Amino acid sequence: MAAEVTLPSAVTMADILNAVSVGLIVVDQDQNVAFWNGWIEKHSGVAAADAVGKRIDEAFSEAPGKTFLNAISNLLQYRLPVVLSNALHRAPLPLFAKPGDPVSKERLHQSITLSPLVINDQGCCLIQVTDATTSIKREKILRSHSELLRKEATTDGLTGIYNRRFFDEHFKIALGNSHRQNTSLSVFMVDIDFFKEYNDHYGHVAGDKTLIQVAATLRRQLMRASDVVARFGGEEFVLMLPNMAEDAAYRFAEKLRLAIWELNIPHEKSRLDQRISISVGFSHYQKMENTNPSELLNTADHALYEAKHRGRNQTCFMALPPHPNRTSYAAS
Ligand code: GH3
Ligand code: MG
Ligand code: MG
Repeated sequence: MAAEVTLPSAVTMADILNAVSVGLIVVDQDQNVAFWNGWIEKHSGVAAADAVGKRIDEAFSEAPGKTFLNAISNLLQYRLPVVLSNALHRAPLPLFAKPGDPVSKERLHQSITLSPLVINDQGCCLIQVTDATTSIKREKILRSHSELLRKEATTDGLTGIYNRRFFDEHFKIALGNSHRQNTSLSVFMVDIDFFKEYNDHYGHVAGDKTLIQVAATLRRQLMRASDVVARFGGEEFVLMLPNMAEDAAYRFAEKLRLAIWELNIPHEKSRLDQRISISVGFSHYQKMENTNPSELLNTADHALYEAKHRGRNQTCFMALPPHPNRTSYAAS
């Protein structure tokens, strides 16, 4: 039981209720407004004298939302408190920072609580409204900051494509998916040929520009949302493409190589037609083939090494080694 408050004679309870920075409305059993405080007057633009005695659905300048009106009916019937979810109903009442101002027409975001109240033995509904605009704005800023951080954490700063960290995480997921769904997964390792000589001859800034161009060209070759290209480190890139047959994977690797070749970026110090080229190594995983998926990345890397060894500017495929512990993947 709350303690009785004795007020100095000059101050009335109404003075206090009109001064608080919370909106207060009391609605009686017939849904007529019995009390309408100063905060509600200020933000609705409707004076208490005009609102008191009217039905709650007619008291505002515009009709309140249906959820709000239903909540009042329910409360008056069942006498149970209700909190209107701020996430679902941001602004059920026509309340504004400055009502009547043609510039700031946007409604305040509202947190609304309805509580049962008994006045003179009559069940009423007390409506409390607070302005949630600032906390929602703050929440929005925090959310966009965290999205930015997440993007920065998964993107390569120079080329704008995914970084190694993103690839490592998603590679594990993609491998799990292809195992469960019995689909294939192809991994391609790409390395720019004679790039040290390129940097030495044209300078680091030109080197950076070429890395950006190569990354963008590789990305343009992707066709599906599940395809990923990432910078693996330095002048190396990695791509993973689920659900692609082995011969199609070979054609895709060649498509990558030719796309870079056709950029025709001069590279005087390259021993290969004096233009920028890449070597591509790839490998392919298919569950039924009883091979070891944990070797997929390594095997693609070995294939890349082989492409370099055979003279660069070419594609090399290497098959996965057999799984060491199982005789058949189909049995798993
Ligand atoms: P190979 O054909 O065998 O791949 O020879 P390579 O010269 O490309 O390979 P190596 O590993 O010897 O040199 C890679 C070079 O890539 C070294 C470095 O100067 C350059 N590099 C790595 N990261 C960056 C970068 O972020 N910016 C620039 N401009 N150059 C980079
Ligand atoms: Mg390299
Ligand atoms: Mg290289």
